[in-house]
Amino acid sequence: MLELVVESPIQPVVLPSFAEQGVTVHIKRDDLIHPFISGNKWRKLKYVLEDARDTGKNTLVSFGGAYSNHLVALACAGAMYGFKTMAFVRGEEVQNHMLGLCRTWGMQLRFVSREAYRDKEQLYRSVETEHTYFIDEGGRGVLAAKGCEEILKDISGYSHVVCAAGTGTTMAGLIKAALPLNINVEGICVLKGAKGIEDDIRLLTPEYDNWTLHHRFHGGGYAKTTLELLALIDQMASQTGILFDQVYTGKMMQAVLTLVSESYFPKGSNILLVHTGGLLGLLSRYD
Ligand SMILES: *Cc1c(COP(=O)(O)O)cnc(C)c1O
Repeated sequence: MLELVVESPIQPVVLPSFAEQGVTVHIKRDDLIHPFISGNKWRKLKYVLEDARDTGKNTLVSFGGAYSNHLVALACAGAMYGFKTMAFVRGEEVQNHMLGLCRTWGMQLRFVSREAYRDKEQLYRSVETEHTYFIDEGGRGVLAAKGCEEILKDISGYSHVVCAAGTGTTMAGLIKAALPLNINVEGICVLKGAKGIEDDIRLLTPEYDNWTLHHRFHGGGYAKTTLELLALIDQMASQTGILFDQVYTGKMMQAVLTLVSESYFPKGSNILLVHTGGLLGLLSRYD
């Protein structure tokens, strides 16, 4: 069990502006790990599912918005590994391709008001039994960060690693793995005014200083898009063949291009971008 074979190749990203600024850029294709348990969501679930199994649980209970990559990943992984799944979904009842997929894998969905959604512990208690297992929103937590450390397994030779940050759990895992490799982690925060993320990251990585969280690139706030962002995603797709979503990885790419153009990265920098997946969310562009 839990032996998903993780194939996540690294490939160069060749763009004229990178060459002009004297930096080399590669991308780690965690989006290729699995079509639905995609990217960092597999990394974050791996040890959580192992823990649920080892403690004899059979029902995974979690939380998310109506376009949650985490819920899709959890619904699929739960079905693959023999767990029942249940999710509290924020806001009034809606239908979309993400939630439809969740249901297809047998996930039970309960829509709750934004207010009720804030108290996840209480929601959990309303369904808790000796067989249920609590997984926080976005899969965040210590075991999730541990799984994300493995993104940098067998990797060396880079000066910087860049990732999108929502809860900061993925970034925390990268920070831990990057310190002995002398790599600085550049997180691109996709939420507006989310200063608490620094504290959350520090809790998971006390005493680490090999990281910077950038707050300029949320593009108006979580899941907000601009025409520039959508144009950039189209341009990247046509220039490199790689798809980026508009909530996470597209904003990371936009940030990287800006930071490179500002000479933020010293000449000779060897930059590794982490493609954290989430491409199903891209489809909402065409809904
Ligand atoms: C969930 C998600 C993130 C955010 O990960 P955190 O660990 O919460 O910071 C980044 N990228 C994609 C594609 C995601 O789906």
